[in-house]
Amino acid sequence: MMTIEVDLHSDTQTRPSEGMRHAMVSAEVGDEQRGEDPSANRLCELATELTGKESAVFMPSGTMCNQVAMIVHCQPGDEIIADKTSHIINSESGGAAALAGAQIRSVDGVRGVFTAEQAEEAINSVKRNFPRTSMIEIEQTSNAGGGSIWPLETICEVADVAKRHGLAMHMDGARLLNAVVASNVTASDFGAPFDSLWIDLSKGLGCPVGAVLCGSKDFIEQAWGWKQRLGGAMRQSGVIAAAGIYALENNIERLAEDHASARRLAEGMEEVSGIEVWPVETNLVFFDLKKTGLTAKDFHERLLKRGVRIGIKSKYEMRAVTHLDVSMDQVNRAVDAVADVAAGA
Ligand SMILES: *Cc1c(COP(=O)(O)O)cnc(C)c1O
Repeated sequence: MMTIEVDLHSDTQTRPSEGMRHAMVSAEVGDEQRGEDPSANRLCELATELTGKESAVFMPSGTMCNQVAMIVHCQPGDEIIADKTSHIINSESGGAAALAGAQIRSVDGVRGVFTAEQAEEAINSVKRNFPRTSMIEIEQTSNAGGGSIWPLETICEVADVAKRHGLAMHMDGARLLNAVVASNVTASDFGAPFDSLWIDLSKGLGCPVGAVLCGSKDFIEQAWGWKQRLGGAMRQSGVIAAAGIYALENNIERLAEDHASARRLAEGMEEVSGIEVWPVETNLVFFDLKKTGLTAKDFHERLLKRGVRIGIKSKYEMRAVTHLDVSMDQVNRAVDAVADVAAGA
């Protein structure tokens, strides 16, 4: 296998740092299922302080957070409104159908962000033969939309529509903290219009595993029941919760460095003939390379030969992600590699 020297494939590639590993080794632990793991409890407390929600539950993954939220907010046969690019539609193995028994109506947003008007149009009127619309989901930041930030104003307008129609609002906050750092809006301000939201610990925050789902006491109580049923209830999870505590205490502000690296990467690639870079708002850099005459698959392979890994998004589009294990020097090397490949070198 080729040695990967610069890995821009995903922010899931982050490895636990020395400091994080140390926190894990010395974590206080107990039986999480019995509410007796002090580290898991502390992590949930920190998450509620951060998001302004009443209660929280530690989950093994962000996917489980989305799944549990859909199960709690929906009845079988219900409909969820989400952007066409959303993770719940494209990347959760059909979980909404398989577990919540719900179907998802996709909305055609711009870079993953749709308007209140589009949300309202997607809501079914109450009729025996229509699926009952019960929830609106948004992704902060939009992953397949290119790391785009949902403006707080747009969120509030969508939430008003939800409120008028009695729908639940759920945020897939896999990269909520990237949006927070990039826009200077607090997590609790972003979170206020939502009934439930979660943050991922295993992406840019650098943990090996985990996510925290937040909401009202009643919602989290129901979420706990599903965590238990789905086999997500753990025992001495403090070992991994400690990584989450470390991340919330040390790795939030530094996301700004990832955003600066992403901007540098974008600026460098904009200079390359044949490459068109999408607008960059956070740590995701999408680019179109059709004009180079190469497909993303060819481009990917040629970059790998130069030790640089960048993901394939579609036939002519790629997705590069900056994160805590990517230095500015590595970003510059990636730009050089992209320029060489585009030039047919
Ligand atoms: C990664 C991701 C998820 C899933 O999180 P896991 O912790 O990998 O299960 C969900 N939504 C979005 C937008 C993501 O980027």
